[in-house]
Amino acid sequence: MLNEPVIFGRFIVNSTQGREYFEIYKKISPDSNQYRCLERTQTALGQHFLDFLENSEEALHPIVEHYNKVFKYLDKDYLDQRKIHTTMDFIIKIYENLSGVHPFWRSTFNLNPVLTSYKWYEFYYLREYMNFDASDITEADRDDKMQHYWEQVRKNIMHELKELEEFQNFISSMRNAVTFCLDYSSFLEFSKLHTQQRAYLYQSHFDSNFMRNQPIQNIFNLSDRASALNPDRKIHFSNNNDVMVSSIISNANYYELIKKTKTSLDFSALAASLEKTSIETTTNLDITTLEDIKTICLYTFSLLVSNNVHVRPCKNCGRLFSPYNRKDELYCSRTQANSKTCRDDYYDKQIHADELIRYYRTAYKRENARKQRNIINKPSSEKEFTQWAKKAKKALEKAKKGDLSFDEFKKILDREG
Ligand SMILES: [Zn+2]
Repeated sequence: MLNEPVIFGRFIVNSTQGREYFEIYKKISPDSNQYRCLERTQTALGQHFLDFLENSEEALHPIVEHYNKVFKYLDKDYLDQRKIHTTMDFIIKIYENLSGVHPFWRSTFNLNPVLTSYKWYEFYYLREYMNFDASDITEADRDDKMQHYWEQVRKNIMHELKELEEFQNFISSMRNAVTFCLDYSSFLEFSKLHTQQRAYLYQSHFDSNFMRNQPIQNIFNLSDRASALNPDRKIHFSNNNDVMVSSIISNANYYELIKKTKTSLDFSALAASLEKTSIETTTNLDITTLEDIKTICLYTFSLLVSNNVHVRPCKNCGRLFSPYNRKDELYCSRTQANSKTCRDDYYDKQIHADELIRYYRTAYKRENARKQRNIINKPSSEKEFTQWAKKAKKALEKAKKGDLSFDEFKKILDREG
């Protein structure tokens, strides 16, 4: 992770479509300005946020506890390299664990102050400055630098640990708010309320500190990106042909520019070419620091509240989900162990059950007709039919549960089994 090239996450919201995307970018090479998209996920509005809360609530506590233990071994001695390397290995493992919890976490380590200071410590410890024209650095300078950067590492770890501890409160507070304001399977008394009305109730009666007691709509502060990322970087979207207008506004004065340069652009042709095209606006938020995760959570939450999005626990896996197509969906689109999504799994089972019932009904009619035909000549027909019906009913239940294959089921109904 220490030598991993720059990675950051971009969260893209398209509220017109009710979709959101999360992309992870990696620098093509250490000296390049170009970033390549490594992965892209598409979900319903709010799903990344819901997953982030759920995954982190379960996983964050033991990670923070472990971090606290490692922190206790953090020695001031900047010269004990063996100890320093062991401790840093532990910390890097903690980051890796956190990265596995949710991709939001993974996006924050590139500009991580602990790792940045540690890189500088290593720079002096390994005498990497020898690769540059830095022959004037004396041993005493090197010693000073190592002491300084190790002190920075320690300070930043202390700060980060505090931040992660606060995150636990933030996540449980967000989880409460989600249940109270957005989950329509709980608090049935509020089922007729708009999510905004529920959010108002929540803030005014239960948690006045929630969203810093600001009106729900204006809580997110976007930090300046200029220092975080090289402003003239190029981004390559992979497999993405959608027309998207990003919300990042350029500060160039195009109006003046176009007027001055006597452009050869034919505006009426341009306008005509777009008349029948609908263009969607999207909002892009980049994640590079821990604070950015909070911004995205608050932004998503207020978006869900203002769009009256109802979330509920999936009837199959029990985890909260945001509806993909219809408000009353009962199953989520998470992929389960059988590599089917909860939704597809349900529909497959549904179709399978329908097929079984159809076969059962046809067989029942046939057997019943046979009984009617034979009842005068063959008095045992009635009994035979009852026995068959009992067996067939049992087989249907078993087949619905998957305890009988379709072929086995057919054989029993056709009196072959
Ligand atoms: Zn599910």
